[in-house]
Amino acid sequence: MSQLATIQPEIEKFGNQVFKLIERDQDAPRVFGGSDLYGRLMDWAMRNPVFKTQMFRFVDVLPSLTSSDDVVKHLVEYLGNVKSPASGALRGALTVGRLIPAIPARLIRRNVLSMANIFICGKEGKSALLNLRRIWREGARFTVDILGEAVVSDREADDYAARYRELLDFLSDATHYWKPEGPLASSEPPLVNLSVKISALCARIQPSDPQTSIARILLRLKQIVARANQLGASINLDMEHYGLKGTTLDLFKELSKDPDLANGPRLGFVIQAYLRDSHKDAEEMLNWARREGRQITIRLVKGAYWDFEKVVAAQKTWDVPVYLSKPETDANYERITRLLLNNRPLVYPAFASHNVRTIAHAAIYAKEQGTSRGDYEFQVLYGMATPIRRALVQLGYRVREYCPVGELVPGMAYLVRRLLENTSNEGFLRAGFSEKRSITDLLRDPVTQISDRPQSNGKAPFSRKSESGGLLPSHRVDTPFRNEPPLDFAVGSVRMKMANALATVSGKLGLSYPIVIGRKELPGAAQMVSINPAHPRQVIGHVAQGATREVAMAVDTARKAFVAWSKTSAESRSKLLERLADKMRADRYELAAWEILEVGKTWAEADADVVEAIDFCIFYAEEMRRFGHGRLTQNLPGEISIENYVPRGVAAIIAPWNFPLAILCGMTVAALVTGNTVVIKPAEQSSVIGALFMKLLREAGFPDGVANLVSGTGESVGSLLVAHPDIDLIAFTGSREVGTIIWGTAAITHPDQRNLKKVICEMGGKNAAIIDTDADLDEAVLGILQSAFGYQGQKCSALSRLITVGNVNQRLVPRLKDAIAALKIGPPEHPDTDIGPVIDQASLEKIQGYIALGKSEHHLAYQAPLPAGLEGYYIGPTVFTEVAPGARLAQEEIFGPVLAVIGAKDLPTAIQIANNTPFALTGGLYSRSPDNIDRVRVEFQVGNLYINRAITGAIVGRHPFGGFKMSGAGTKAGGKDYLVNFLFPRVVTENTLRHGFAPETETLPFN
Ligand SMILES: Cc1cc2nc3c(=O)[nH]c(=O)nc-3n(C[C@H](O)[C@H](O)[C@H](O)COP(=O)(O)OP(=O)(O)OC[C@H]3O[C@@H](n4cnc5c(N)ncnc54)[C@H](O)[C@@H]3O)c2cc1C
Repeated sequence: MSQLATIQPEIEKFGNQVFKLIERDQDAPRVFGGSDLYGRLMDWAMRNPVFKTQMFRFVDVLPSLTSSDDVVKHLVEYLGNVKSPASGALRGALTVGRLIPAIPARLIRRNVLSMANIFICGKEGKSALLNLRRIWREGARFTVDILGEAVVSDREADDYAARYRELLDFLSDATHYWKPEGPLASSEPPLVNLSVKISALCARIQPSDPQTSIARILLRLKQIVARANQLGASINLDMEHYGLKGTTLDLFKELSKDPDLANGPRLGFVIQAYLRDSHKDAEEMLNWARREGRQITIRLVKGAYWDFEKVVAAQKTWDVPVYLSKPETDANYERITRLLLNNRPLVYPAFASHNVRTIAHAAIYAKEQGTSRGDYEFQVLYGMATPIRRALVQLGYRVREYCPVGELVPGMAYLVRRLLENTSNEGFLRAGFSEKRSITDLLRDPVTQISDRPQSNGKAPFSRKSESGGLLPSHRVDTPFRNEPPLDFAVGSVRMKMANALATVSGKLGLSYPIVIGRKELPGAAQMVSINPAHPRQVIGHVAQGATREVAMAVDTARKAFVAWSKTSAESRSKLLERLADKMRADRYELAAWEILEVGKTWAEADADVVEAIDFCIFYAEEMRRFGHGRLTQNLPGEISIENYVPRGVAAIIAPWNFPLAILCGMTVAALVTGNTVVIKPAEQSSVIGALFMKLLREAGFPDGVANLVSGTGESVGSLLVAHPDIDLIAFTGSREVGTIIWGTAAITHPDQRNLKKVICEMGGKNAAIIDTDADLDEAVLGILQSAFGYQGQKCSALSRLITVGNVNQRLVPRLKDAIAALKIGPPEHPDTDIGPVIDQASLEKIQGYIALGKSEHHLAYQAPLPAGLEGYYIGPTVFTEVAPGARLAQEEIFGPVLAVIGAKDLPTAIQIANNTPFALTGGLYSRSPDNIDRVRVEFQVGNLYINRAITGAIVGRHPFGGFKMSGAGTKAGGKDYLVNFLFPRVVTENTLRHGFAPETETLPFN
């Protein structure tokens, strides 16, 4: 019999005892079954998932609503049509609200505030003291956390740190005379105990450079810890989402080793048992503590971000880091419980859980091990489990309550998390206290429940390959295309590989790259020099430049290769794209390194570009398999009509530098997989990446002549290609100026031209985001930073007009300025950099010209200063406010880190301003009003509209990308209908009726 099986009866006995005490404790506040508003809300929320979502969203937005009208408006929008047992009361409130909004608004605010007060201990130390004293009097201890979630600027991080230090002083003073008594008093940990979230101590934690982030956090954290040291208090680092796990653990080690804090305060951190790697982490941390000879505190929790981790993993196509079945988490928690108890006194374990089975297991295992009750503790969350806390204290255990303090606005995220936890289908509290499952069931060993369900492996549930064979499109199962996962720079080995790739590529700089036509490599008429925009003296490579002769040769070669290539099966062509994707996957670190050095992308931006290139290959390969089979137009007896597609001919691919691999690759492989042959002209500024891409095409096995490379300037090679009579198709991405010239030139037909030239033209934008009065500004600020200043604003999707509704700008702009000030400007090869250089001197001058114009016509709200010693083409992110909608700054494409803030009195005006440009590429809205979201969804005229998220970063297959008006001809790269642009449709109709005889089943002539 396993050790666990032998203690199961004891666990059940203990559990029963706890349940009995809970039953008896009638005056303890409870989270379920109350007849007050909170009790009823929980009840409705558990019965009706739609009501739950709408209610929680309303609670989330409420603190940001400034007028009674707004409160009522949102209440109607969220809950007006939701059926719930509250409908009668709600309708009443809404009717009154429409007449006299102040009445229900006041009532609602008061009720939500009292709901928040169930879980939030007080506004600050002073107002929380009453509750802390009550907890103490009831024989329990506390740890206090300041609500604040993620901060966006150094000022906010400084404020947060200062509040912690003040809280320490206050608590240590206020509890000075509290003296522990009873059997556990001799082993009592420090009375004042604070829980700290590292994200609140740093404006931006950069996953690609944890060491710099740790140094930044330590600046503030050390002051808190030093104060705790003086006052004899404990500090515990909370654990947040998975992306911060490694940083938090490393930070803990650094902090513990600090010589200034030697013999310092008691320090702790958290292990989340829902993580698959948590047992390994716990073991490693114990080994570290053993080596360092120090005792540590570990709070063991299951984890509060389960849904979030699943969503992030699905969106990034990463393996899910959490267990997917609840018993697995529970069993892992118990495994780690045993690990910790087996490692006393190296560790002081704190078992944080409201699950009576989980608690009983820890208590009984500790007893079996002979661990004294003073050598570990239980922890519960304030307001969530008072009866459990009281029962454990009565049984003689040390229990600490986690007590958040703070204002309602930052507290909302916390409140919603607690509401979710209480209403979660899988939660113990719901099962035990609302659904009243049997005690035997509640106390079952989780290991025995794992075998009842399939175990999860954390792999994303997608299949990469299409298995639909040769079926007609209508019969095919649409297998989901799986995006290439981006690199996770939070992983140490990934960072190491990136740093190594940068070193390798740095050793390959300055080489020469030829023109490639057929199997020939040609030196060209002249050489272009490609340089690093962050270090203009550094030569990335010398690239052979074509002229009339090379263009003519390349087009001729492509034309000849077309004969065989156009007849190659769609399947073979698709396979070559997959081979190309494999090559890029194998080289992904080096390709990203080339981008960092040649065009000034940060690590994450460079990797995203490589990922997108791979995605284009796989996506278009699968799409071509779909298009490659004919389509029976109608199922009629006696006739077969098949529509199929044929390639157009020779394509000129004219690509930009801002996505030097992805866009170049996307346009090229779309042309190739559809059976066209190509002449590629990369942008001058990214011509080395263009040459490397050509090399990959050849290595992947594309036949000679199918893809040809003629580098050179747009004015010469680009123009020659566009005007060439033998070019059938032009795929161009770039500025409106060049795009419209190409459009016009391509329309001129030559006497010996075979086809009307098709132009696939994607141009720029003057993209706007509307910030509504009720927007979540934490989210909006981060989204604006990413959209306006990611890759220095040099994306066609970048945000350049921020349209603020009402007076939201008064709250938004100061936070935005502070957040910009925290961005790191510098060479992008450094992993901590947020803002690198713009692409070249000409671009720098053009952007500077717009900034000068802005300074003369508008109010300069902020311009980030440049650090000393930079030698490249740098421009600090710049924000102008009070910009008129028709001003040049608000109408012309700048392609740099310049943001114009435009005020609008209301949403209709904001939409009007947003639509009032010649462009229609991307747009965004931050709002929490369902009606306003619906309105903008319909009225904002852009190709890609993003709601409550950044407006850049389109993902292949998920966000087909492209605009209309002067932003493009309506094609959508990475979308289902993109390849049609590279093809001619044909229909072949055959009469199969022979002298009145038509076969019952026709054999279809599909390839
Ligand atoms: C004092 C205290 C401090 C805490 N500090 C932190 C912290 O710093 N960081 C942190 O992340 N959490 C923290 N938590 C934990 C968290 O907030 C939840 O309270 C806790 O996970 C609930 O676990 P339980 O054992 O009480 O309840 P149970 O109902 O037994 O477990 C619920 C938990 O199981 C997991 N789960 C739910 N569904 C599934 C599923 N389908 N598959 C796999 N797992 C699932 C989730 O983690 C969920 O929270 C803390 C909790 C307490 C009590």
